[in-house]
Amino acid sequence: MTKKILELLPTELTNYLISIGEKEYRAKQIFNWIYNKRSSDFNEMTSLSENLRERLNSDFSFNLPIIEQKSISQDGTTKYLLSLADDAKIEMVLIPNEKKNTLCISSQVGCFRKCEFCATATLEFTRNLETYEIIAQVFLAINELKETKLTNLVFMGMGEPLDNFDNLVKAINIMQHDLCFNFSPRRITVSTSGVVPKITDLADTGLKIKLAVSLNSANQTKREELMPISKKYPLTELKKALIDFRKKASYRITLEYVMIKDFNIGKEDANALIKFMGDISCKLNLIKWNAVNGLKYEAPSGNEVERFRKLMNVQKSAVTFRRSRGEDIEAACGQLAAKNVH
Ligand code: SAH
Repeated sequence: MTKKILELLPTELTNYLISIGEKEYRAKQIFNWIYNKRSSDFNEMTSLSENLRERLNSDFSFNLPIIEQKSISQDGTTKYLLSLADDAKIEMVLIPNEKKNTLCISSQVGCFRKCEFCATATLEFTRNLETYEIIAQVFLAINELKETKLTNLVFMGMGEPLDNFDNLVKAINIMQHDLCFNFSPRRITVSTSGVVPKITDLADTGLKIKLAVSLNSANQTKREELMPISKKYPLTELKKALIDFRKKASYRITLEYVMIKDFNIGKEDANALIKFMGDISCKLNLIKWNAVNGLKYEAPSGNEVERFRKLMNVQKSAVTFRRSRGEDIEAACGQLAAKNVH
């Protein structure tokens, strides 16, 4: 089987080149073709000798996913359904904003954390994405954007990134390398449902990224109902891991809070949340639940959303309200893939 060029760090490609008797500087040229000129065809890499091009063709492949479906929302959010080499389906979402273009990418095919409110949870967990499949999403998105710059990356698509730890870390190392996508640390966000030991491991890698945690309730009983992972890693342990993480990390942690009607947006929910936030250096991102067919929850009305925001006002400087993007194209995590499977 051929190796995947998109999962090599420059040092690894250099070692390969030396092993076949080529010059080291060829690695730089190859990375320039891939990451600057956006080429996914060794035959196009005309600054390389024909011999080397042939050799690369026989030793490596790109294996880019195929864009199977593209849905464009009225607000410009574009959702892609991608088909991988083994026919597995994943999604990525491009979210344009005034100053930034954010790409939301997947880390797994399906997810085994089974959050009750999430569309991905209705899919079977199939497998982790390989490093090159994570990188390939960014590669495809940059090609789609053409001249527009991709500014931010969030691991908020399908899957639990910290359950695919090694491939995630390798992919981020590639994304941040100056010969590759050259993403600066504060422009990559890893979002987790709260895999406590892996949050600690992530801090220990020294990798510089932003961490987001999908909290969704600061009440243990309610959080367990919503997110089974909370039975294994309760809020007390999660909080401790976040405080420790923050000591080693450069950026404040973001707590993500999906607002669900009659479930997690009452006064007592706000109080629990304020208390939870109190001890952590964090920001809070409130977002209205994006309705998913077949799930038992309901999205709150505009008034209910407003009421909860006001209840959280004591934390004003730390709270942001994220407009739900791409509602008309079912852009919430896993919705499109779910539709194609069921
Ligand atoms: N497993 C990771 C990343 C995937 S979910 C995590 O849990 O963070 C990415 C984000 O989408 C999470 O914050 C999650 O709470 C949110 N989300 C999932 N389904 C949603 C829906 N139907 N509406 C709004 N947000 C949703």
